[in-house]
Amino acid sequence: MIKYSLKKFDKEFSTDAECLDWLFNYRYPNGVECPTCHKVTNYYRVNNRPCYECELCGNQVYPMVGTIFQKSTTPLRTWFHAMWLMANTRCGISAKQLERETGVTYKTAWRMFKQIRSLLNEDTGMFSGDVEADETYVGGAKHGKRGRGASGKTIVAGEVERQGSVSASVVPNVQSKTLLPMIIEKTSPESTIFTDEMPSYKQTQSTRIQSSGYTHNEKVYVMGDIHTNTIDGFWALVKGGIKGVYHHVSPDYLNSYVKEYEFRYNHRKDEQPCSKLS
Ligand SMILES: [Zn+2]
Repeated sequence: MIKYSLKKFDKEFSTDAECLDWLFNYRYPNGVECPTCHKVTNYYRVNNRPCYECELCGNQVYPMVGTIFQKSTTPLRTWFHAMWLMANTRCGISAKQLERETGVTYKTAWRMFKQIRSLLNEDTGMFSGDVEADETYVGGAKHGKRGRGASGKTIVAGEVERQGSVSASVVPNVQSKTLLPMIIEKTSPESTIFTDEMPSYKQTQSTRIQSSGYTHNEKVYVMGDIHTNTIDGFWALVKGGIKGVYHHVSPDYLNSYVKEYEFRYNHRKDEQPCSKLS
């Protein structure tokens, strides 16, 4: 993960106005085409109001409108700080920690995270190349067995490109009719999919799916290639974070947490946080 330090963040976003400037430039990268002047004109920030004004006619734009910040009474800088915190931790951050670091109430912190998280569910597109598919169990009873009998646990299934992005979500069960269509739909026809030995993955005629200990393709794979180490690493991040940071996540919310980890994983090489706000 490329480090965008708190020091750098504090310097670049030291006031609400600076955050608003960033948001304005983010939303209008090519300037504002003034609806009255019918051309791109210079817009200046209005003092003490979250808006910018056309220098020629006084038309105003409000960059927070249509974003999660629009109706919030929390200062924009606190929002940015929260996003910085969320983006700059590998394991996630709790609302408690946000409360401590920014001085907002726990309730506000919790709401902010929920709002920010709602933006992190982005379309990761179709996967290609070598893809791993796997499932894991989160929460619930400590010693749930795999498949049937994993009482109280929530199942998360996902795919990862060995050289790219991850996509994961909560699934109702691990039946092949649940897992296989997800995998096939998510991956390009030329990709090879590596799974473990779970029977659900073997109930397919697709020669694209290679399960460990089982190969039904004339193509010869080195056994060492058929593994799910990459997605196992992602599961470790999710589970470690939930255990260490969030302690307990109800099944209803788990999907949004998984999406948060997915987002962070897929943006691990970004230069800056806050890459998606509206
Ligand atoms: Zn104008």
